[in-house]
Amino acid sequence: MAALTIDNKSYQQIKDKSVPELPEVETMVRGIRPIAKGAEVMDFEACPCRRQPIAVGPDFDTVRKMQLGQTVRAVTRLGKRVVLTFGNGGAVVIEPRMTGLLLIADPPTVEHLRLRWIFRTGGKQQSLWFWDRRGLGTVRWLDAEQFRQLAEVSLGPDPFALSLETWRERLARTTRPVKVALLDQKLVAGIGNLYASEILHRAKISPFLPANRLKPDQVGRLMAATQHILSEAIRYEGSTLGDGTYRNALNRDGNYQNQHGVYMKAGQTCQQCRRGLIRREVQAQRSTFFCPVCQPLPRSSR
Ligand SMILES: [Zn+2]
Repeated sequence: MAALTIDNKSYQQIKDKSVPELPEVETMVRGIRPIAKGAEVMDFEACPCRRQPIAVGPDFDTVRKMQLGQTVRAVTRLGKRVVLTFGNGGAVVIEPRMTGLLLIADPPTVEHLRLRWIFRTGGKQQSLWFWDRRGLGTVRWLDAEQFRQLAEVSLGPDPFALSLETWRERLARTTRPVKVALLDQKLVAGIGNLYASEILHRAKISPFLPANRLKPDQVGRLMAATQHILSEAIRYEGSTLGDGTYRNALNRDGNYQNQHGVYMKAGQTCQQCRRGLIRREVQAQRSTFFCPVCQPLPRSSR
């Protein structure tokens, strides 16, 4: 599995670049479900691409063989992964990572097309494409037991399923700033850099407050803000930032970037309090955007 692990250097390079987070991955799931669910896999092929091939595990031929003739039972999201579950109990787990997209329409560029599924439903054939500019995405075949383990072991709970009590327990365990803790996929799965800033802004919590110092009412606000922001971002089909990388399954922009309260808005007046000027600071090598008026750091934590 070593080849599937992204190295630190790649993370450094992309730093503040857009990475699909939960709302974008959920939008991919919803976008491809109409053509994939209930369909039979007629073929799975690698596209002619001169770039370094993306990681397909355990190997391309196995992944192809296991899917051929199989019916897609479900299309779901597991954290920031898209999962196709098959009639034979196995699953294809697709991780878009930095720049991967699942498309059922013409791609942004032809040269970054990586993989193609040909589905058949009701006598009609349709293609699903995996497009990836940087090529850091991965596609893996897992049998039923491997998939059960992945779901259980490697992922933290989904933010829509996490109870208030679990939020409290998990935050109480770490002294890291709450913004950094929110990015820990073992604490809560699917929140990345963009939505972490948006969530804390809505919850009116300083990103610098140590996670274990949150008061009970703040934990409640954090949970509510997380669900609100992620639901809204899904409703708007994700955020397409200035780099234009993220697209929905129909190769169109998301719309949530127009709803952002703080992300990429440094120097602008906060629309929540209409007083503070939004600031950008770096935490754990990632940009944090916040309003110092809505999100003051308690005196005791300075
Ligand atoms: Zn404000």
